[in-house]
Amino acid sequence: MGNTYKTNKYRQPLFEIVGMTSTELTFDIAFAYMESEQTENFCWVLEKLKELLVKKHSCPQVILTDRDLALMKAIEIVFPRSINLLCRFHINKNVGAKCKQYMVNDMQKTIYTLWMEVVWASDEVEYGQRLHQLEQACVDYSGFINYVKDTWLTPHKQRFVGAWINRVLHLGNTTTNQVESAHWKLKQMLENNIGDMVKCWEAMNNNLRLQLGNIRASFQKCFYEVEHAHISPFYGNLRGSVSRAALRRIAEELLRVGYVGTNRQICGCTLRLSYVLPCACELGRYAPGGIPIPIDVIHFHWRKLTMEVELEVGADDGLEVDMELEIIEKERSTLYDKLFCNRLAKVRESLMIKSFGSQPQQKWLTLPDMGSLIANHYNVVLVCLGKPCMTFFPMTSSHSPNVSIYCIGFVNQNHWVQVNMKEGFPLPPVTLDWKKFRCPTTTSWMLGFAGRLQHWQLLTPILA
Ligand SMILES: [Zn+2]
Repeated sequence: MGNTYKTNKYRQPLFEIVGMTSTELTFDIAFAYMESEQTENFCWVLEKLKELLVKKHSCPQVILTDRDLALMKAIEIVFPRSINLLCRFHINKNVGAKCKQYMVNDMQKTIYTLWMEVVWASDEVEYGQRLHQLEQACVDYSGFINYVKDTWLTPHKQRFVGAWINRVLHLGNTTTNQVESAHWKLKQMLENNIGDMVKCWEAMNNNLRLQLGNIRASFQKCFYEVEHAHISPFYGNLRGSVSRAALRRIAEELLRVGYVGTNRQICGCTLRLSYVLPCACELGRYAPGGIPIPIDVIHFHWRKLTMEVELEVGADDGLEVDMELEIIEKERSTLYDKLFCNRLAKVRESLMIKSFGSQPQQKWLTLPDMGSLIANHYNVVLVCLGKPCMTFFPMTSSHSPNVSIYCIGFVNQNHWVQVNMKEGFPLPPVTLDWKKFRCPTTTSWMLGFAGRLQHWQLLTPILA
């Protein structure tokens, strides 16, 4: 979150909230013109933002800002469970400027390097040692060291120093540079027409279109383009299901396995803790045995390859699942009663045949009824290409990677034929019945096929 100034003729600061995709691109979430930058104004904006969240009781894990005390206070009030990190880039810029103010040329660089080492300290012991070094070097610059301590380290070290933030799930958000660069394009547009609200709105809208286009292209690349470094079967479970940005981070981490081995102490596990990606000590357990990295060790953030509303995965709505579990446990025997309701007898009847050979029309395959039966009975995935296109998952078993997938297509308004699809083809949406009546353990189907389901969504034009 950040503010920009002089972007319209009313001279009101523009407050911008951006998010980051799994492909590490930024997108605008919200804009607000602020009458003044007081806590209560920020609170109003954040409350409005809260109303927009799809999951009502969730909150952002991490919010990254500059050291704007009014905004920070507002975040504490509106999103008390979010972690408010401070942008390192801005802090370093400010500290760099103070260096110039307090000391002569050749000292500036030395002190600034020592400062950076403090910021990057990977644990509290290291932090203590490096801070001590900085203090020693600054004996003649008490103004500077007091500034650094009073403004930054004492009140805020947990919000930007590695020793603390390496343990926070921030998924790579450590500078608001993203906000800046998203701003930069927008600013260009806004500044060209220091205009009224309508002009500004148009500029924002254009910016959004631009972002959306880039983001969709970046998602598509995750499905169609494999980087050379990720060809190995080691990444087999992840290709097409995880963003290339995440794969790049993993490939980079893999280089550490040589000296980390499986030792957690040496590893430090930053990638696991801050990015929820497998860190070197974990990779060290898979790599030697040639075990492909399992998909479920990757945070859902990196698996979201669509801008559509999040796929239902059940992983983080525990309460709902528990309640569902209770209901289904009670009524397991009545799965088909529920599924077919008062048509149960009719469905059963349609399956009874007197003899093999050609059958009257009332015995022909009907969807969705038979789709659910086929998927359940044979424990396969059935994909139907027709109007509508849909995927049937088994409702009582959990996901298995080797499951058979059958695809059928509707032709001549009256006939189903088997369709041979390429390996890994995109899957159409899962039936609503599956979502309503499945056993709780079966949500793993959604996870196992998340990439392919998202791929389909991506190919379906957004209704604008
Ligand atoms: Zn580790």
